[in-house]
Amino acid sequence: SKRAGSHGCVVHDPSLTDRRADDALLSEDLDHALDRGELHVLYQPIVTLADARPVAAEALLRWQHPTRGPIPPDRFIPIAERSGAIARIGLWVLAEAAAQPFPTSVNISPRQLREPTVVHDILAVLHRTGRDPRDLILEITESASVDGETVIGALRTLRTHGIRIAIDDFGTGYSSLQYLTRLPVDILKIDRSFVAELNGTPGGAAVTEAIIHLARALTLTTVAEGIETPAQAAELQSLGCDKGQGYLYAEPLPAADVARTFVASAAE
Ligand code: C2E
Ligand code: CA
Ligand code: CA
Ligand code: CA
Repeated sequence: SKRAGSHGCVVHDPSLTDRRADDALLSEDLDHALDRGELHVLYQPIVTLADARPVAAEALLRWQHPTRGPIPPDRFIPIAERSGAIARIGLWVLAEAAAQPFPTSVNISPRQLREPTVVHDILAVLHRTGRDPRDLILEITESASVDGETVIGALRTLRTHGIRIAIDDFGTGYSSLQYLTRLPVDILKIDRSFVAELNGTPGGAAVTEAIIHLARALTLTTVAEGIETPAQAAELQSLGCDKGQGYLYAEPLPAADVARTFVASAAE
């Protein structure tokens, strides 16, 4: 973050300084974004690979900043995690998702999971919206901060109510294998970086194949992310992957559009 200047003195990297100042500005704006109606949720269908039927949809948060336009979640969610704003925003996403007429898969940040009231808050949303907990999947990413007794206890309780737990971006995070035996889990989401390597060669499929075998042995469901081509879908299906999502099927869409695909699929 620091480098030697031309006269040997140490100067700050301007890009990093700018980034920090910008983070602080965005963090302030984000505090008001929810109340000002700048946040909305899109839904990306998750389909069975065998017949491309939708079974659920992943809730993906969007921020339309009043002067800057759309800010990508990879940019503002880490800021919301640091400020703590993610707790309130995350619960709002959950409430939006639970109000939809199809099963949803909702991303939960590690910070949210460490809130002492997380179990109560999630169950309260389901109660208020009258949703069956079996229609809710919580996606958590592998990280050291969710590998503690309190978080594992919270996940166990949620699971006894019928909520399913998915590990997101599986294989890219922190000590995946050790983690798997400790966490109460139902679904492994195969990260799109592995799906992108599927090119019909055994080498390209190695990691994906290993994850699918592991999931089988532990009786977990597999969902592949970032499927963009029919060839990837076919290869995943022949490897035994259960479900998938990606631009091949649908990009993240407004809820009403996704609801229509569920109705159309049920009528077939
Ligand atoms: P993620 O959970 O891994 O979500 C999948 C990302 O892949 C989404 O990016 C989605 O739009 C994108 N995607 C879907 N299909 C394809 C495809 O075929 N090809 C490619 N290249 N990408 C595809 P998005 O919407 O920008 O979200 C980025 C990340 O932000 C998410 O990654 C998730 O970690 C986080 N995020 C989004 N919404 C929420 C939220 O409500 N709460 C929390 N805690 N995190 C969220
Ligand atoms: Ca996710
Ligand atoms: Ca993911
Ligand atoms: Ca990701």
